[in-house]
Amino acid sequence: MRTRSSELFCPAQLRIEDPPSSDALFNAFLSSLWVKEEAACSILYSAAIRHFLHWLDVHAIPVGTLDDQVVRRFEKHRCRCHGYSAQQAAYKTDQAARVRRFVRFLEDQGYIEVDDGIDDLPRHLNDYSDVIDSLQLAPGVAQGYRSEAEHIVAWLRIKRQSWADFDDAILDQYAVHGCRCPVWRKRGKLIASGAKRRRRGARRFVEFLRGRGVIPSVEPVSDDDPHMAAFLAWLKQHRGATDETIRRYRADIRRLIPMLGEPSQWDAAVLRRAFQQRSKETPGSASLLVTIIRSYIRFLVVQGI
Ligand SMILES: [Zn+2]
Ligand SMILES: [Zn+2]
Repeated sequence: MRTRSSELFCPAQLRIEDPPSSDALFNAFLSSLWVKEEAACSILYSAAIRHFLHWLDVHAIPVGTLDDQVVRRFEKHRCRCHGYSAQQAAYKTDQAARVRRFVRFLEDQGYIEVDDGIDDLPRHLNDYSDVIDSLQLAPGVAQGYRSEAEHIVAWLRIKRQSWADFDDAILDQYAVHGCRCPVWRKRGKLIASGAKRRRRGARRFVEFLRGRGVIPSVEPVSDDDPHMAAFLAWLKQHRGATDETIRRYRADIRRLIPMLGEPSQWDAAVLRRAFQQRSKETPGSASLLVTIIRSYIRFLVVQGI
Protein backbone atom coordinates (compact mmCIF):
# COMPACT_ATOMS: atom_id res chain seq x y z
CA MET A 1 0.00 0.00 0.00
CA ARG A 2 1.39 3.37 -0.97
CA THR A 3 1.51 5.90 1.80
CA ARG A 4 3.41 8.59 0.02
CA SER A 5 2.59 12.23 -0.14
CA SER A 6 4.48 12.95 -3.31
CA GLU A 7 1.55 14.56 -5.02
CA LEU A 8 3.20 17.55 -3.42
CA PHE A 9 6.59 19.09 -4.24
CA CYS A 10 5.12 20.29 -7.46
CA PRO A 11 5.13 24.03 -7.86
CA ALA A 12 1.97 24.77 -9.75
CA GLN A 13 1.83 27.62 -12.22
CA LEU A 14 2.30 30.84 -10.41
CA ARG A 15 -0.96 32.54 -9.49
CA ILE A 16 -0.80 36.07 -10.69
CA GLU A 17 -4.26 37.25 -9.69
CA ASP A 18 -4.59 39.85 -6.96
CA PRO A 19 -2.97 38.67 -3.78
CA PRO A 20 -5.51 36.21 -2.37
CA SER A 21 -7.03 37.05 0.97
CA SER A 22 -5.79 35.33 4.10
CA ASP A 23 -9.14 33.58 4.40
CA ALA A 24 -8.92 32.23 0.86
CA LEU A 25 -5.43 30.82 1.48
CA PHE A 26 -6.44 29.38 4.79
CA ASN A 27 -9.56 27.67 3.43
CA ALA A 28 -7.70 26.29 0.44
CA PHE A 29 -5.13 24.85 2.80
CA LEU A 30 -7.70 23.21 5.08
CA SER A 31 -9.40 21.56 2.14
CA SER A 32 -6.03 20.10 1.10
CA LEU A 33 -5.68 18.14 4.32
CA TRP A 34 -6.57 14.50 4.14
CA VAL A 35 -10.17 13.80 5.03
CA LYS A 36 -9.35 11.93 8.21
CA GLU A 37 -7.04 14.66 9.36
CA GLU A 38 -9.35 17.47 8.62
CA ALA A 39 -11.77 17.17 11.52
CA ALA A 40 -9.14 16.49 14.12
CA CYS A 41 -6.55 18.97 12.99
CA SER A 42 -8.37 21.90 11.56
CA ILE A 43 -8.75 23.56 14.94
CA LEU A 44 -5.03 23.24 15.66
CA TYR A 45 -4.10 24.36 12.17
CA SER A 46 -6.59 27.14 12.37
CA ALA A 47 -4.99 28.61 15.47
CA ALA A 48 -1.44 28.32 14.15
CA ILE A 49 -2.08 29.62 10.67
CA ARG A 50 -4.35 32.48 11.62
CA HIS A 51 -1.68 33.58 14.09
CA PHE A 52 0.95 33.34 11.37
CA LEU A 53 -1.14 35.26 8.85
CA HIS A 54 -1.83 37.93 11.44
CA TRP A 55 1.88 38.21 12.24
CA LEU A 56 2.73 38.48 8.53
CA ASP A 57 0.20 41.22 8.22
CA VAL A 58 1.61 43.17 11.15
CA HIS A 59 5.11 42.95 9.68
CA ALA A 60 3.89 43.61 6.14
CA ILE A 61 5.53 40.44 4.81
CA PRO A 62 3.99 39.42 1.47
CA VAL A 63 2.99 35.76 1.11
CA GLY A 64 4.97 35.44 -2.11
CA THR A 65 8.25 36.04 -0.28
CA LEU A 66 7.81 33.42 2.44
CA ASP A 67 10.60 30.99 3.17
CA ASP A 68 11.92 29.09 6.16
CA GLN A 69 13.77 32.11 7.50
CA VAL A 70 10.46 33.88 7.88
CA VAL A 71 9.01 30.82 9.62
CA ARG A 72 11.97 30.84 11.99
CA ARG A 73 11.42 34.48 12.76
CA PHE A 74 7.80 33.71 13.47
CA GLU A 75 8.79 30.78 15.66
CA LYS A 76 11.03 33.03 17.75
CA HIS A 77 8.91 36.15 17.89
CA ARG A 78 8.02 37.51 21.30
CA CYS A 79 4.35 37.35 20.83
CA ARG A 80 2.32 40.44 21.44
CA CYS A 81 -0.12 39.65 18.68
CA HIS A 82 -3.61 40.74 19.54
CA GLY A 83 -5.71 37.72 20.49
CA TYR A 84 -2.82 35.26 20.27
CA SER A 85 -0.32 36.23 22.90
CA ALA A 86 -1.78 33.91 25.54
CA GLN A 87 -0.31 30.94 23.69
CA GLN A 88 2.31 29.07 25.67
CA ALA A 89 5.89 28.74 24.55
CA ALA A 90 5.50 24.96 24.74
CA TYR A 91 3.21 25.10 21.73
CA LYS A 92 5.66 27.05 19.64
CA THR A 93 7.32 24.05 18.04
CA ASP A 94 4.03 22.42 17.13
CA GLN A 95 2.76 25.71 15.89
CA ALA A 96 5.82 26.21 13.68
CA ALA A 97 5.47 22.67 12.30
CA ARG A 98 1.92 23.49 11.22
CA VAL A 99 3.04 26.75 9.72
CA ARG A 100 5.77 24.92 7.78
CA ARG A 101 3.20 22.63 6.31
CA PHE A 102 1.13 25.63 5.33
CA VAL A 103 4.15 27.21 3.63
CA ARG A 104 4.80 23.98 1.72
CA PHE A 105 1.20 24.04 0.60
CA LEU A 106 1.62 27.60 -0.66
CA GLU A 107 4.76 26.58 -2.58
CA ASP A 108 3.06 23.56 -4.08
CA GLN A 109 0.12 25.69 -5.14
CA GLY A 110 2.28 28.35 -6.71
CA TYR A 111 1.53 31.17 -4.27
CA ILE A 112 5.22 31.15 -3.47
CA GLU A 113 7.53 30.80 -6.42
CA VAL A 114 10.28 28.23 -5.95
CA ASP A 115 12.68 26.55 -8.33
CA ASP A 116 13.89 23.12 -7.29
CA GLY A 117 16.08 22.88 -10.35
CA ILE A 118 14.11 19.84 -11.56
CA ASP A 119 10.87 19.65 -13.48
CA ASP A 120 8.25 17.27 -12.28
CA LEU A 121 9.75 16.03 -9.04
CA PRO A 122 6.57 14.09 -8.12
CA ARG A 123 6.98 11.92 -11.19
CA HIS A 124 10.58 11.12 -10.31
CA LEU A 125 9.58 10.30 -6.75
CA ASN A 126 6.88 7.96 -8.03
CA ASP A 127 9.21 6.25 -10.46
CA TYR A 128 11.84 5.95 -7.78
CA SER A 129 9.30 4.29 -5.54
CA ASP A 130 8.55 1.77 -8.31
CA VAL A 131 12.24 1.03 -8.68
CA ILE A 132 12.51 0.45 -4.94
CA ASP A 133 9.47 -1.85 -5.10
CA SER A 134 11.04 -3.86 -7.87
CA LEU A 135 14.07 -4.58 -5.69
CA GLN A 136 11.87 -6.57 -3.30
CA LEU A 137 13.61 -5.30 -0.21
CA ALA A 138 12.22 -5.92 3.25
CA PRO A 139 9.19 -3.62 3.68
CA GLY A 140 10.85 -1.51 6.37
CA VAL A 141 13.94 -0.99 4.25
CA ALA A 142 11.95 -0.06 1.16
CA GLN A 143 9.85 2.35 3.20
CA GLY A 144 13.03 3.88 4.56
CA TYR A 145 14.34 4.60 1.06
CA ARG A 146 11.05 6.20 0.03
CA SER A 147 10.97 8.29 3.18
CA GLU A 148 14.49 9.55 2.70
CA ALA A 149 13.82 10.50 -0.90
CA GLU A 150 10.89 12.66 0.15
CA HIS A 151 12.87 13.94 3.07
CA ILE A 152 15.83 15.19 1.02
CA VAL A 153 13.43 16.80 -1.43
CA ALA A 154 11.68 18.64 1.40
CA TRP A 155 14.95 19.67 3.00
CA LEU A 156 16.45 21.05 -0.23
CA ARG A 157 13.23 22.96 -0.78
CA ILE A 158 13.48 24.52 2.66
CA LYS A 159 17.11 25.45 2.03
CA ARG A 160 16.17 26.85 -1.36
CA GLN A 161 18.98 24.73 -2.72
CA SER A 162 18.87 23.67 -6.34
CA TRP A 163 19.24 20.00 -7.20
CA ALA A 164 21.73 20.83 -9.89
CA ASP A 165 24.24 21.94 -7.23
CA PHE A 166 23.98 18.80 -5.14
CA ASP A 167 27.37 17.65 -3.86
CA ASP A 168 29.01 15.99 -0.85
CA ALA A 169 29.07 19.19 1.19
CA ILE A 170 25.30 19.46 0.84
CA LEU A 171 24.91 15.77 1.65
CA ASP A 172 26.96 16.28 4.83
CA GLN A 173 24.70 19.12 5.91
CA TYR A 174 21.63 17.06 5.17
CA ALA A 175 22.91 14.08 7.16
CA VAL A 176 23.19 16.06 10.39
CA HIS A 177 20.45 18.69 10.10
CA GLY A 178 18.08 19.24 13.02
CA CYS A 179 14.97 18.08 11.29
CA ARG A 180 11.98 20.34 10.95
CA CYS A 181 11.18 19.32 7.42
CA PRO A 182 7.55 19.46 6.37
CA VAL A 183 6.92 15.87 5.28
CA TRP A 184 3.69 14.10 6.12
CA ARG A 185 2.35 10.69 5.48
CA LYS A 186 -1.19 9.54 5.44
CA ARG A 187 -0.26 6.91 7.96
CA GLY A 188 2.05 7.95 10.69
CA LYS A 189 5.00 10.25 10.56
CA LEU A 190 8.14 10.27 8.54
CA ILE A 191 10.38 7.62 10.06
CA ALA A 192 12.92 9.43 12.21
CA SER A 193 16.32 8.87 10.70
CA GLY A 194 19.92 9.04 11.81
CA ALA A 195 22.81 10.50 9.81
CA LYS A 196 23.84 7.18 8.33
CA ARG A 197 20.43 6.33 7.03
CA ARG A 198 19.87 9.81 5.69
CA ARG A 199 23.15 9.67 3.84
CA ARG A 200 22.46 6.27 2.33
CA GLY A 201 18.91 7.14 1.37
CA ALA A 202 19.82 10.48 -0.17
CA ARG A 203 22.76 9.04 -2.10
CA ARG A 204 20.58 6.39 -3.60
CA PHE A 205 17.96 8.86 -4.76
CA VAL A 206 20.61 11.21 -6.14
CA GLU A 207 22.18 8.34 -8.08
CA PHE A 208 18.75 7.52 -9.44
CA LEU A 209 18.29 11.11 -10.63
CA ARG A 210 21.79 11.19 -12.12
CA GLY A 211 21.16 7.90 -13.87
CA ARG A 212 18.13 9.44 -15.53
CA GLY A 213 20.07 12.51 -16.55
CA VAL A 214 17.79 14.72 -14.43
CA ILE A 215 20.75 16.20 -12.62
CA PRO A 216 24.24 16.36 -14.09
CA SER A 217 26.49 13.35 -13.66
CA VAL A 218 29.79 13.94 -12.02
CA GLU A 219 32.74 13.83 -14.36
CA PRO A 220 35.57 11.58 -13.21
CA VAL A 221 38.31 13.71 -11.72
CA SER A 222 41.90 13.62 -12.92
CA ASP A 223 44.87 15.93 -13.09
CA ASP A 224 47.83 16.79 -15.34
CA ASP A 225 50.29 16.54 -12.48
CA PRO A 226 51.20 12.83 -12.23
CA HIS A 227 51.64 12.96 -8.41
CA MET A 228 48.27 14.53 -8.02
CA ALA A 229 46.63 12.15 -10.50
CA ALA A 230 48.08 9.18 -8.57
CA PHE A 231 46.85 10.66 -5.30
CA LEU A 232 43.33 11.18 -6.66
CA ALA A 233 43.22 7.63 -7.99
CA TRP A 234 44.41 6.37 -4.63
CA LEU A 235 41.68 8.35 -2.81
CA LYS A 236 39.08 6.74 -5.00
CA GLN A 237 40.38 3.19 -4.94
CA HIS A 238 41.61 2.83 -1.39
CA ARG A 239 39.64 5.39 0.55
CA GLY A 240 36.37 5.05 -1.32
CA ALA A 241 36.16 8.85 -1.71
CA THR A 242 33.41 10.18 -3.93
CA ASP A 243 34.12 12.35 -6.93
CA GLU A 244 32.86 15.43 -5.09
CA THR A 245 35.29 14.84 -2.25
CA ILE A 246 38.12 14.21 -4.67
CA ARG A 247 37.32 17.40 -6.52
CA ARG A 248 37.40 19.37 -3.26
CA TYR A 249 40.75 17.84 -2.26
CA ARG A 250 42.27 18.64 -5.60
CA ALA A 251 41.03 22.22 -5.58
CA ASP A 252 42.42 22.83 -2.10
CA ILE A 253 45.79 21.29 -2.81
CA ARG A 254 46.16 23.15 -6.08
CA ARG A 255 45.40 26.43 -4.38
CA LEU A 256 48.09 25.76 -1.81
CA ILE A 257 50.84 24.45 -4.09
CA PRO A 258 51.96 27.87 -5.42
CA MET A 259 52.77 28.85 -1.82
CA LEU A 260 54.66 25.62 -1.18
CA GLY A 261 56.84 25.10 -4.22
CA GLU A 262 58.19 21.65 -5.07
CA PRO A 263 57.22 18.74 -2.76
CA SER A 264 60.91 18.01 -2.14
CA GLN A 265 61.28 21.44 -0.45
CA TRP A 266 58.33 21.07 1.88
CA ASP A 267 59.07 21.18 5.56
CA ALA A 268 57.13 22.04 8.69
CA ALA A 269 57.97 25.78 8.52
CA VAL A 270 56.97 26.12 4.86
CA LEU A 271 53.69 24.33 5.54
CA ARG A 272 52.89 26.42 8.60
CA ARG A 273 53.45 29.65 6.67
CA ALA A 274 51.24 28.48 3.84
CA PHE A 275 48.44 27.42 6.19
CA GLN A 276 48.59 30.75 8.00
CA GLN A 277 48.39 32.71 4.79
CA ARG A 278 45.59 30.55 3.48
CA SER A 279 43.52 30.80 6.64
CA LYS A 280 43.81 34.58 6.45
CA GLU A 281 42.32 34.42 2.98
CA THR A 282 39.52 32.02 3.88
CA PRO A 283 38.99 31.88 7.64
CA GLY A 284 37.42 28.76 9.08
CA SER A 285 38.62 26.27 6.51
CA ALA A 286 42.09 25.72 7.98
CA SER A 287 41.53 22.44 9.81
CA LEU A 288 40.01 20.67 6.83
CA LEU A 289 42.82 21.99 4.68
CA VAL A 290 45.44 20.64 7.10
CA THR A 291 43.76 17.24 6.97
CA ILE A 292 43.74 17.27 3.20
CA ILE A 293 47.36 18.34 2.82
CA ARG A 294 48.53 15.89 5.48
CA SER A 295 46.89 13.09 3.63
CA TYR A 296 48.56 14.24 0.39
CA ILE A 297 52.00 14.46 2.01
CA ARG A 298 51.63 11.05 3.62
CA PHE A 299 50.72 9.66 0.23
CA LEU A 300 53.78 11.24 -1.41
CA VAL A 301 56.06 9.94 1.35
CA VAL A 302 54.71 6.39 1.01
CA GLN A 303 55.24 6.63 -2.76
CA GLY A 304 58.84 7.70 -2.13
CA ILE A 305 58.42 11.08 -3.83
ZN1 LIG B 1 2.32 36.37 17.85
ZN1 LIG C 1 14.54 16.99 7.91
